[in-house]
Formats: sequence, structure tokens, C-alpha cells
Amino acid sequence: MGTTQSLLVGRVLTFAFLFFIVQVGIGPLAFAQTATTSIKVDQVGYLPDAPKIALLSASGSNPQNFLIKRTKDNSVAFQGKLSSAVHDPNSGDDVQAADFSGLREPGRYYVDVPSIGRSWNFEIGPNIYSRAYKMAMLGFYGQRCGTAVDLGPEFPGYKHPACHLKGEFHPSSGKSGERDNVGGWHDAGDYGRYVVNSGISTGSLLWAWELYGSKLKDIKLHSPESGNGTPDILNEARWNLEWMLKMQDDDGGVWQKQTSTHFSGFVMPEDDKLPSEVIGTGSEPYKSTCATADLAAVAAIAARVYKPYDPKFSERNWDAARKAWQWTEKNPNVAFKNPAGISTGEYGDSDCRDERIWAAAELWRTSGDAAYSDFFLKNYADFQPKLDAPAAEGWREVAPMGLWSYALANRKGSDASAIAAIRKSSIDVAKRIAQRTEADPYRVSLVAKDYIWGSNGVAASYGLQLLVANAFSPDPAFVNAAEDNLHYLLGRNTFSLSWVTQLGEHPYRYPHHRPSGADKNEEPWPGLLSGGPNAGRQDAVLAALPKDLPPARVYADDQGSYASNEIAINWQAALVFLLAGSLQ
Ligand SMILES: [Zn+2]
Repeated sequence: MGTTQSLLVGRVLTFAFLFFIVQVGIGPLAFAQTATTSIKVDQVGYLPDAPKIALLSASGSNPQNFLIKRTKDNSVAFQGKLSSAVHDPNSGDDVQAADFSGLREPGRYYVDVPSIGRSWNFEIGPNIYSRAYKMAMLGFYGQRCGTAVDLGPEFPGYKHPACHLKGEFHPSSGKSGERDNVGGWHDAGDYGRYVVNSGISTGSLLWAWELYGSKLKDIKLHSPESGNGTPDILNEARWNLEWMLKMQDDDGGVWQKQTSTHFSGFVMPEDDKLPSEVIGTGSEPYKSTCATADLAAVAAIAARVYKPYDPKFSERNWDAARKAWQWTEKNPNVAFKNPAGISTGEYGDSDCRDERIWAAAELWRTSGDAAYSDFFLKNYADFQPKLDAPAAEGWREVAPMGLWSYALANRKGSDASAIAAIRKSSIDVAKRIAQRTEADPYRVSLVAKDYIWGSNGVAASYGLQLLVANAFSPDPAFVNAAEDNLHYLLGRNTFSLSWVTQLGEHPYRYPHHRPSGADKNEEPWPGLLSGGPNAGRQDAVLAALPKDLPPARVYADDQGSYASNEIAINWQAALVFLLAGSLQ
């Protein structure tokens, strides 16, 4: 599929197929397809000892009771009373809760509400998020650029030959000629690679490793490097790191991005023949401060993370981080704007102080060199209010990563009062978010203004923020609220939709993602998180939706809705972090 028209044909055929199996009514699939979207569950499931809540929005009726039934034989495992309905202004739904936290027996279940219907199937068990984590990481593998990709036997047909092999310097980079082009992840639904967005994405994966490495180290991913002695999450992150390192010029500065001059059509990556250009600011010093500081931060993390597995690679990262930092000292705020003739994503940012704060914290954490700590301590307090909530666009505002890292490092020679202040703010904010989440009818941390471009990434980032607070001061309320955001993403939302492709029985199906649109597979590439509802309506599909929709409903499972249904590595990384933190 590749055009809206053929997409629509595909959908009509799908509906016809579903109608057929419902009519015939055979097999477990047929059961699943009779589920009602009025009942919302985490379609992956719930941990045995965690709170377990399903939600119901059935306007006009007011059911009293619910049953939890075993999928295998429809026997009743639990029964309870629904809460009274609460109006949720963000979705417009009247929401009732079905609390079955008392059910701890591992197994596969569904919710049955007499007179309303049944939910999708879900599981209760200690290992339920393991596959979800692997699929989310597979999402990264599928974005690899400059190499052939094959998702393997679980997802046959999801593959393509090596792509974007021709790389060159665009005149705006201050250099000319061809260059090696292998490495990095395609950023999103397009085939560009952007250092700024790579920064927060790769940084979040490396953070997942630093906080949850003991749970992640033995998880084998579908990765060509699997079995090489390095944990697979680090193998995957390295694929992007190698490209980020190539984006550093000899003087230490880092070019903003490597993309074609304009977006390609909806073609497979190997069919995109537009040259991949290293793009700079167009005038001296050609590199940008935010990109350079982001590389400094990520390479500094990499220097400590890879040390036990590959000391040489660790050293390369340290040298790169140091040189990048020095470049930002000479060039503290070179902003980036697309030069003439370039129309791909800009990731523009006029204030690179927060990127430098993050870099300083990570360089300090790795080295203990007081110069970095001094810079951090002179500047961090301005950014403390940024801990209040995830930034609307996480790539633009990375100060929280810096503040948290300084406090988490707790190195000898740290400033104890700075650490105490950062910890206190982080914990106070997490308490407020957790209380608000528990009181929210959909039990999600998002407030009305959070339903922006990439709102699903904001939900995942609330999860990250809550889990970091839990690292400072363990509190089940923080963990429960983090899980609530995961439940929202995996189906407990107004659409009863899992926002990860091919995960759960009712996932979204039409991401704004070129390989999913261009290939011959019926289903999209697996493991990819959708951007989610976006009241900003910056595309024609959303603009055409009814004008009075509440913010949480401004979403379309439509390839054309890049503003609500694109995939992107930054929100994918926040999802991985949240899943990693949820593993038992
Ligand atoms: Zn590529």
C-alpha cells in the first residue's frame, strides 16, 4: 500500500474479513473480535501484585457488576461491582472502573459486563511485559539505516535490503564530497537522521540500561550482534551511537542532521534514492550547539556504560564527549535553522543551555572532573522548574536528564545541597502526578494541555519521570502511576486501542511510517508506538475531524495523520524505558 486510496481499499477488505469471521463465529480470533470498545483494558495485561483496573464507558447505560472470565473456558475467576460513572472532560466519556486487583492467579482473561459485552483478552503474570519490551526494541532494530534489516521468523516478510548507501556533505556543512553513510536509526516515519532527537532517544535507552541493567542484561533481542558478549540493548543503542559519532567534525562540533533535501515519497527505504546529506547551519561554525551538547551527553554516558564490554569503544566515546564539550564552550549557543533548499525536520532550538547542563552532568558523572560539576552548579537552579512535568517535546528540553543524572550519580565531591534540592523537587512533583493520575477517570497522567503532537510520548515520559522519582525514594504510588500510563498506551484509553503496532488484540494499524505504507504486508511493522491524540490538529486528517472533539479524542488511525499517528524514536525510547522499569 502506498496511497490513501489503496489504504482505504485495504481497510474495507479488513472489515469485510472481520465481518466474515464474526458471522462464522469460529476460533479464538472470532471471540476476540466480538470485544466491545466500551470496555478498556491493558491488552498486554497486569502484574500479579499490581492494582488491576479495567475501565468502561457505556453512555446511556449504567451497569452495576462485572465479571473476569478465563479465556480458555469462560469460567468466572472474579466478580465485582463497577464504580459509579465519573465524567472525564478530556475524552468526553463517562467512565466506570472495574477493580479486580484481588485476582492474582496467572492466566489469560477478559472482562465481561452483562448487557454491555466483553473486553479484549489480557494476561495476568509476572513476565507479561517481557515480549512488549522485546517488540519495542525490535521497533528500533527495524529503523536501522545503511544495512539490510530482517525482523526474523516471528515477523516474516518484514525486511528490506540495505538502504541509503550514498552519503555526502551538503554545502551547508562547510565540507564537500562523499562520506560513509552506514549507521543510525531512521528517525520516525521518514528516513532522516537527526542528532538532537537521537540524543534524547539514545540517552533514554542507555539510562534504561543504567537503572534496570540487571533485568535487561540477559534479554536476547532479535539483533545481528546477539551473542557477542554485550547485552543486546547496548548492541542496539550502539548502532545509533556509531552514526552519532560520525556526525562529529574534527574540531569537535557536531552537524545537526543527515537527511535528503526534502522528504521522500512513501517508498521502501532501499527505493529512496535521494542522496543522504550531512546538513549544517550554512555558515561558520556550521555545527550547532544543541546537537554538539547532545552528543557530549550521550557519549559521556556511553563511555561509562560500554567500559566493561568494549574499553576501546568507551574511550572513543569519552574523547568525543570531551571534544564536543570543548566546542560548546567556544560556541555556547549556535542555533540551527534549515538552510535554503532543505525542508526536512528542523529540530530547531534557540536555547542550548539545557543541552549543556545535561552534558555537564553526564561528563561529571563519568569522570568526576570538577570543571563539569562547576558548570552544572552555576546553572542548574534555573532549570529546576522544568522538573514539574515532561516537556511537550522531550528532545528540546533535556535539563531534567541533567538534573536527575547529577543527583543519581551522587559522586564524591558533589554538592549535597544541590542533590537534596533536586531530589526534593523530583519527589514532590512525582507525588502530585501520582495523586492526579489516581484521581483521573482514565488514570493517565496527561492533563488537557498535554494532548499535543506526540502526546503518547508525553504519557510515556510521565512514566519515566515517576520511575526516576522512585529511584530517589521508592514509593509504590510512583510505580503504580507509571504503570497506569503504560496501561493507557496499551489499550486502556477512550479508543480501546493498543498504541503499539501488532501488540494486543486491538492495536492501531495505519502508522505514518514509510515502510509500513510501502511494503506488501497487511499489518504495519511491529512494536512501534503511535504519536497519539493531538489537539493541535496540524494535519488535514485531524483538521477534518468534528470541531467540538475533546482533546483526548483528536486522533485518527490513518497513515495520512502524521500529527497523531507517526512513529518516532524519541517516544519509542520513553516506551522502552517504561517497559524496562515494569519488568519483574
Ligand atoms: Zn536508511
